Amino acid sequence: MNLRIPFHRVNWVNTTFLFFITFLGVIAAPIFLFKYDLNWVMWSMFAFYMISTGLSITLGYHRLFSHLSFRAKWPVRLFTLVFGACAFENSVLNWASDHRRHHKHTDHDEDPYDISKGFFWAHMGWILFKLNAPQPMDNVKDLRKDALVRFQDKHYVAIAFIAGLIFPAVVGYFAMGGLVGAAAGFLVVGALRCVLVQQSTFFINSLCHTIGNQPYSTRCSARDSWIMALVTYGEGYHNYHHEFQHDYRNGVKAWNFDPTKWSIMALHKLGLVSDLRRVPTNKIVAAEMREAQRKAEARLAELKEAGGSICEHTVARVNEMLAQLKANLNELETSVAQSIDASKATLKRWRRETRELVRGLGELRPTTA
Ligand SMILES: [Zn+2]
Ligand SMILES: [Zn+2]
Repeated sequence: MNLRIPFHRVNWVNTTFLFFITFLGVIAAPIFLFKYDLNWVMWSMFAFYMISTGLSITLGYHRLFSHLSFRAKWPVRLFTLVFGACAFENSVLNWASDHRRHHKHTDHDEDPYDISKGFFWAHMGWILFKLNAPQPMDNVKDLRKDALVRFQDKHYVAIAFIAGLIFPAVVGYFAMGGLVGAAAGFLVVGALRCVLVQQSTFFINSLCHTIGNQPYSTRCSARDSWIMALVTYGEGYHNYHHEFQHDYRNGVKAWNFDPTKWSIMALHKLGLVSDLRRVPTNKIVAAEMREAQRKAEARLAELKEAGGSICEHTVARVNEMLAQLKANLNELETSVAQSIDASKATLKRWRRETRELVRGLGELRPTTA
């Protein structure tokens, strides 16, 4: 195995910071927690910072600023810009520029966190090493029009250190008492919380392109996983997100765990955000059906090519389901062309039949002759 590190390409500022913050969060904070008890004020502040910083990245940096999936009034923009900085993931201009490139060039060389360069590269490697050439910031001109965004970009480092590390230490000094309280604020609310939120974001770029299924499209490596949704504030439905990136929902089904979507809905009720963008259900169901059809045809062709005997009854059943799916898709496309909305019951039935086809594919295995 070649473990030679290209030192001339190391981004020393990022590497040094990530090394220290990870050391403080993963080693120093647990030792501190083993020796000292935190009072309820500090645990409450830890919970508040975990939620605020995490959501400022997913709701603010990602769905609001990178994808413009809704509009937000200044208090929401200000809050997510301040707490987003506390995650130490760069200013929103840099973050959104990288992320928009990720969507435009997913799995290709220009993708900053291209999973085809390996799991570690997509997870953290791309932050530790310099790219071959500095990337142009010409894809975030719209964001530069916002004075709050420009202010955050200019003072990002100061905001991140003051709000992310120093403020929790000051609160700890007064709320828990003296230097032990300040250390609790700095190490637990500051460093440990920062590392947890960072790893949650990094997982989206690595694990969400590795584990899970692809019900909407196999055009890129992005995958849907409810397990990943649990640790990424709802961003684990990444296959849906890559197919319909402007939708404010990632977990599009009502039962999907997506606290970011629920927060946007709550802010909408309060009148703080507006113009929530949703992909029509017709379009979503059509994508699922097209993908199931593609998978079925590819699997049948693959088995035919491989030879061997397959249970004829199963093949006949899959072919029957495939024919039904094609008929459903045809009907759906006709109704979309004529701007007629299919009824909820019909969409539900088409979805159920699509799921049955995908399940049927799992039973298509050649039997040994
Ligand atoms: Zn992605
Ligand atoms: Zn995205």
